[in-house]
Amino acid sequence: MSKDAGPGGPTMAETKTPIGFIRNEGRRLMDRWWQEMTAADGAGRPTAYVFVMGSLDEILRVFDLPINCPEITSLQTAVRGRSLEYLQTAEGYGYSPDICGYVKADVGLQLKDRQHPNGTVPKPALAIATNMCNTYIKWAEIWEQMYHCPVFVLDLPAWRGGDVTPRVDGEAFRNDRRYVEGQLRDLIGLCERLTGRRFDIDRLREVMAEVNRMAAGYQAVLSLNRHRPAPFSAIREGIVFQGISNLYRGAPEGSRFFEGAAEELRERIHLGMGTLNEKYRLLLTGTTCYAALKRFAELFEEWGGVFVHSTYMVFAGGGFGSDFAYDVTRPIESLAETLLLSAWRGFSTPMFYAQDWLAETVREWSVDGICFHGVKSCRTTSTGLPDVREWLRTHFDIPGLFIQSDLVDPRMWSDAQLKNRIDAFIESLAGRRATAAR
Ligand code: SF4
Repeated sequence: MSKDAGPGGPTMAETKTPIGFIRNEGRRLMDRWWQEMTAADGAGRPTAYVFVMGSLDEILRVFDLPINCPEITSLQTAVRGRSLEYLQTAEGYGYSPDICGYVKADVGLQLKDRQHPNGTVPKPALAIATNMCNTYIKWAEIWEQMYHCPVFVLDLPAWRGGDVTPRVDGEAFRNDRRYVEGQLRDLIGLCERLTGRRFDIDRLREVMAEVNRMAAGYQAVLSLNRHRPAPFSAIREGIVFQGISNLYRGAPEGSRFFEGAAEELRERIHLGMGTLNEKYRLLLTGTTCYAALKRFAELFEEWGGVFVHSTYMVFAGGGFGSDFAYDVTRPIESLAETLLLSAWRGFSTPMFYAQDWLAETVREWSVDGICFHGVKSCRTTSTGLPDVREWLRTHFDIPGLFIQSDLVDPRMWSDAQLKNRIDAFIESLAGRRATAAR
C-alpha cells in the first residue's frame, strides 16, 4: 500500500481507474465515522456536537474530540426512510409539527436512546452553535437541558460596512476579527478544561493546512461541473461531498477524498460520461427533500434535467469559497478572519442574498433554469424564495420554478402535485429553447 493511503483505505494507485472511487470511498468514510461515533459512545468519550455552518472543527481536532453533526444524522434518518418514526417521537413529546425537521428528527433520536439506523450517537460533552441560523441556538439548548453539557455560541457579526464586500484592511473588519478571536480563545480554554489537555498551536496549524487542502479539492470538484455534460449530480453525489466535507474537515482522509473525487470526475469527462442524458442544466436553491431524495431527482431526470450546482453545496459545504485559504503563520487570527468572511460570503450570501450568486452561477455553470425548493419547516433558507425568483426573471430573464415540501418529513411530499409543477416547468424550458432556435 502506498504511504498515502488512509487506514484501511484504497489509494488511487491501487484502484487503477478512478471510476467508482467517489461511491466506494465515500461509503467507507461514512461507515468509519459511524463506527467512531458508536465506539465513542461505548467508551464514554467526551464528544462535541456541532453544526455545518461554523463547526470549529479546527479547534476540536486539536483536542481529539469526536464530532457529531446532528444535521447530518437527521438527514440520514430520512435517506434511510426512517425519519417519520423519529419525527413522531418528538411530536409525541410536545414538539410542534412546524419546527425544523432536523431538530425534531434529532430530538426523536435522543429520546430513542440515541439509536440511529446507522449506529449509536454518543452523548455530548460540549455543544457548539453559531448565529448562522437562529434555530441552532435553541437546538443546542435542548442538549444542554437533556445532558447538562456546556453550550458555546460563536457570535459572527454580519457585515455592517455598507460595501457589498467587507474590506479586510478596514477598521470595522479588524474590530470584528478581534471580537471573534476573543471567542475562539474562550473556546480553547473550555476545551482545555473539558479534556484536561493543553492547547497545541502547532497542531492547529497542521489541521488548518489540511482544511486548506480540502477546500482546494472541494472547489475543484464543484468547478468540474461547469463541464457539459455535468460529471455529477449536485443533489445525488452532492450529498456525499457535503457529508465528507463536514465530517472529515481537517483530516487527511477528507482532503484525499476530494483529490480522488476530482480525479474520478476528470476521468468521467475524459470518457464522455455525464450524468444521465443531460438536456437541461439546473440549479437548486435550498435543499432537496431527503425523505424523497431519489424521487426528487427522478422527477427532473426523466426529462433530462440535471442539477449542476446548489446553494446548499455552498452554505452547508464548509463555507469553502473560491478564495478560502488560512494563513497558518497567524492561525487564530486567520481562523477568526476566515470565519467572518465565510459567514458573509459562504454562509449568508447564498442563503439570504442569493440573487447575485445565482445569476453568476447561471452564467458560469451554463444553467437553463433554477428550482427554488421551499422547505416548510426551515424558514431560514426558505423565506423570500418567490421574491428572488421574480427578481431573477425580471432582471435577467432567468426561468425559475418554486415548489415546496420538506427536508426530512415524508408527510410534506405530494408527488402528483410536484410532478405537475415540474413537468410544466421543463416544458416551458423546452419552449424557450425552441423559440430561441427559430
Ligand atoms: S438552516 Fe433550516 S434546516 Fe438548518 S437548522 Fe436552521 S431551520 Fe433547521
